[in-house]
Amino acid sequence: MALTTDTRITLSDGNRMPIIGLGTYASPDVARSIGEEATKVAIEMGYRHIDCAHIYGNEVEIGRAIRSKIADGTVKREDIFYTGKLWCSFFSPELVRQGLEISLKDLQLDYIDLFIMHWPFSIKPTGSEDPSDPDKPIVYDNVDFCSTWEALEACKDAGLVKSIGVSNFNRRQLERLLSKPGLKYKPVCNQVECHVYLNQSKLQEYCKSKDIVLVAYSVLGSHRDKNWVDLSTPVLLEDSVLASVAAKYKRTPAAVAMRFVLQKGIVVLAKSFSPARLKQNFGVFDFVLTPEDIKTLNGLDKNLHYGPFKEMKEHPEYPFHDEY
Ligand code: NDP
Repeated sequence: MALTTDTRITLSDGNRMPIIGLGTYASPDVARSIGEEATKVAIEMGYRHIDCAHIYGNEVEIGRAIRSKIADGTVKREDIFYTGKLWCSFFSPELVRQGLEISLKDLQLDYIDLFIMHWPFSIKPTGSEDPSDPDKPIVYDNVDFCSTWEALEACKDAGLVKSIGVSNFNRRQLERLLSKPGLKYKPVCNQVECHVYLNQSKLQEYCKSKDIVLVAYSVLGSHRDKNWVDLSTPVLLEDSVLASVAAKYKRTPAAVAMRFVLQKGIVVLAKSFSPARLKQNFGVFDFVLTPEDIKTLNGLDKNLHYGPFKEMKEHPEYPFHDEY
């Protein structure tokens, strides 16, 4: 079936996730009001899936943008699919609901459509929530994500979230969660970095076999925020093979990078705060890459993580020591 801007993927719990979503992370030097305006513009254009997180520090503004578009009649609450993320310092079971309620209060929403564990590892609360804050070094914690999960299941039962999932989990970690004794709800998704340099084909195959939807971030080669990304890594949108495929279709490298992931059946998040790019990114449904071009783009894979979160690499739950 042809993909359109309205295509939604049915999750294992019956909820439906729009196949294209707006990313909202921006480095702290970007005024929060810019993301707020961009979110309003995106909703007016037809975006219905908004990806955000407590740790991005902008849920107040993103929530205000969503509510303003509900208030002016552009959308109803049920049209919007909002994803929030539980930060790693809220993993102790008694803190999980508190973490969610902070997001709900910031957003001024009654519920979140999808709430996911941001990473598989836990860190100790330090007072500063910003992991790139050099004055507050990250201190590892050892909360088992299976116990966090039980508290998330309770949040779903309480009606505060419609769906629950995970992010940045590797296969072994997913297997452990799926085989947790007494598991009540499976994670509906695993949100991971995914693009032409990291196409996640093995993880996708595994997730598909377990009815877990893969959601891709950094599809355009990431935000390249120096706090998170090694700036000596190649710029994805400057790749010459990507450029030559794009030229064939008279499209931009960004459009081809997004189609490549969408055509694999993976949900795409793309961040832009520029109206022209928001429009361009929402317009990737009017062309189809051929199987040969997909094959060519598959050849670009080099297992490159733009955002490896290296500060956590000694943590026992660091996900990227495994192949996938
Ligand atoms: P993306 O790969 O979406 O790239 C964003 C960058 O690309 C921005 O600099 C943007 O600039 C630029 N851009 C957007 N559209 C175009 C275009 N058409 N042509 C050229 N450049 C373009 O980056 P992210 O890493 O931000 O990933 C997307 C989202 O995924 C995040 O915002 C966040 O919501 C989520 N995420 C989740 C993570 C997790 O751990 N679960 C980790 C990282 C991201 P401009 O705004 O100026 O257009």
